[in-house]
Amino acid sequence: MQTEKIVVITGASRGIGAAAAKLFAQKGYGVCINFVRDDVAAQQLKNEILQYTSKCITVQADVSKAAEVQRLFDTVDIKLGPLSVLVNNVGILKNQCRLDEMDEQRFSQVLHTNVMSCFLCSKQAVKRMSSKYGGVGGSIVNVSSGAAKSGSPNEYVDYAASKGAIDTLTKGLALEVAAEGVRVNAVRPGLIHTDIHALGGEPNRIDRLKSKIPMLRGGKATEVAEAIYWLASDKSSFVTGSFIDTTGGL
Ligand code: NAD
Repeated sequence: MQTEKIVVITGASRGIGAAAAKLFAQKGYGVCINFVRDDVAAQQLKNEILQYTSKCITVQADVSKAAEVQRLFDTVDIKLGPLSVLVNNVGILKNQCRLDEMDEQRFSQVLHTNVMSCFLCSKQAVKRMSSKYGGVGGSIVNVSSGAAKSGSPNEYVDYAASKGAIDTLTKGLALEVAAEGVRVNAVRPGLIHTDIHALGGEPNRIDRLKSKIPMLRGGKATEVAEAIYWLASDKSSFVTGSFIDTTGGL
């Protein structure tokens, strides 16, 4: 009989995903670290995590592609066992600019990576967790963004729109599977200290904006991980289709 719960975290080799992977391991979960490129970072994280749990694997997969997502979840079935939690953490953004300066390729890539990954991984998770398919239930936590509400004008409206889509997917899927033992929720981080800001061309973005945050500081990846973990855990057993803003009041 399975005693250890199993979590898949997408894009987990660094940032918020890595912080979540460590926290789930400390709570006794078996952890699948998905990564797309940085196998050295994924392996280092795995070595760290093996202090806390005997079950940890790394799986390289571009989760915006259906065949790679299928391989990711099939690997988890074989190597870790039945899935309990999915954290849809993958998200990308591009250089800050106005919408009228963006090209189609960028818009398409950001939407495709951020939304398709969430859709494809959630589909695989539901097929494993839902009582409709013989599963014992589970929890999906999506990593949205405060950008879903702010729209990120003059920075990345494309990214903000992708996060808006994730909020809608969270709500709709939560209602579809609520009676099948699967809960679906999301966190909306604000300005969090990770390397994602360098992708937008401004590594020190939080320094520029922190005076606008009511708590006057950026957040830590570990602070978002705690919210993700709570939504995934049985402590939130009557919560579905809900959102936690981890924004310092912004
Ligand atoms: P990050 O760039 O450190 O992490 C994102 C990870 O996703 C990276 O490891 C990247 O390699 C991976 N990834 C990208 N495309 C992938 C793909 N196709 N397949 C597999 N992995 C892929 O950034 P982060 O700040 O840790 O972001 C984590 C999540 O939090 C993202 O969804 C991001 O949009 C969201 N978020 C972050 C902030 C912030 O201020 N840091 C704010 C709001 C929301």
